Amino acid sequence: MGEKIIITVAVTGSRPTKEMNPAVPYSPKEIIESAVDSYKAGAAIAHIHVRDPKTGKPDFKIEFFKEVLEGIRERCDMLVNLTTSGLFLEGSEVIQQRLQPVNLKPDLCSLDIGSLNFQDRVFVNSPLWGETAAKYMKEKGVKPEIEVFDVGHIYQAIDLIRKGWIDDPPYFQLCMGVKWGISASPENLIFMKNKLPKNALWSVLGIGKDQLPMITMGIILGGNIRVGFEDNIYLSKGRLASSNAQMVEAAAQLALRLGREIANPIEARKILNLKNYL
Ligand code: ZN
Repeated sequence: MGEKIIITVAVTGSRPTKEMNPAVPYSPKEIIESAVDSYKAGAAIAHIHVRDPKTGKPDFKIEFFKEVLEGIRERCDMLVNLTTSGLFLEGSEVIQQRLQPVNLKPDLCSLDIGSLNFQDRVFVNSPLWGETAAKYMKEKGVKPEIEVFDVGHIYQAIDLIRKGWIDDPPYFQLCMGVKWGISASPENLIFMKNKLPKNALWSVLGIGKDQLPMITMGIILGGNIRVGFEDNIYLSKGRLASSNAQMVEAAAQLALRLGREIANPIEARKILNLKNYL
């Protein structure tokens, strides 16, 4: 059935803590280790945030991003997707700060295109941010992974695609079930998918208990999927995941059982039409 499936592992994000699940990685070394183990379990892409190694607080130090990117590339050929969400950054230099990971030339960077109330915060992604970031990623040859949390965000992405700032094929991450974003129902996922441009590639993630239903639908509908501690710390109800790799392995087995083969990093590069081959 269809193209091979790309599994992304979102190894740490900015929210889960070791108090919630002791296996959540904080330091660059822990993050590298967790990404490489996930690669061995079937993940072709690692989506990376960085943390303060001691406190686990979200961090945005470019040295940490660099260490993680280089550390993963030394150990395996998986694709690296650095976040530009900067959800915790404030001040007049925010756009420049958020774009710093693009300078490291990872394979992909996340591109958050629209604003929303995000759990207990406001996630601000102004039209100026979206256009500036899309242009900058294009200039640097870094493919954007367009993260959309509701349907209006898709329309904003389509506007940028029409203006020529995002190369074909556009690659979307449908983020389902973030509190105050679009909820993670089957109807909503199909609705979102149907709003994408015809040639779009897409992946889906679900938050917490919505992870398994959403990735199952993603597999069946011919999309790609994301798992990992950024989205969910449980393997099943009441049972904490022991590692990112364990979640990747479970997702890969599910995909195989449903008739989808798993894309390795080389195949993922081809599917995504990445220009910056290593
Ligand atoms: Zn992220």
